[in-house]
Amino acid sequence: MNKYKDAGFKLTPQRMAILEYLEGNREHPSADEIYRAIRGRFPTMSFATVYNTLDMLVRKGKVIELTIDPGKKRFDPGVSPHHHFICSKCRRIDDIFEEFDVRFASGRGKKYRVTGHHIEFYGICPSCLEHERAH
Ligand SMILES: [Zn+2]
Ligand SMILES: [Zn+2]
Repeated sequence: MNKYKDAGFKLTPQRMAILEYLEGNREHPSADEIYRAIRGRFPTMSFATVYNTLDMLVRKGKVIELTIDPGKKRFDPGVSPHHHFICSKCRRIDDIFEEFDVRFASGRGKKYRVTGHHIEFYGICPSCLEHERAH
């Protein structure tokens, strides 16, 4: 966890536990899921602590906040830029590591300096599709 040494914030055991839980986690958990996963180790920790820590990590650029799920905010550990697919049946969010050629069709794009884009795909995931076919 040395990579968090120069993170610019105090690493309390709770913050460390949240970072460790998110490290390499591709499930895009919600704040509530993160809270439930680590509260066993910190019985006195409140949900507000988890929420505030996530908020701070997002502001520091260590964690990405996803708004693709209208039901709740979901969190993604900071990794290389990627897109997301959300399943409207099971709410699973998959990472999409693929390049898409996205550009303004009109000349309006010339007025902006575009530094990136994030695509949110909606639909049915492979396992829900399989389940659908089996019934
Ligand atoms: Zn699904
Ligand atoms: Zn992701």
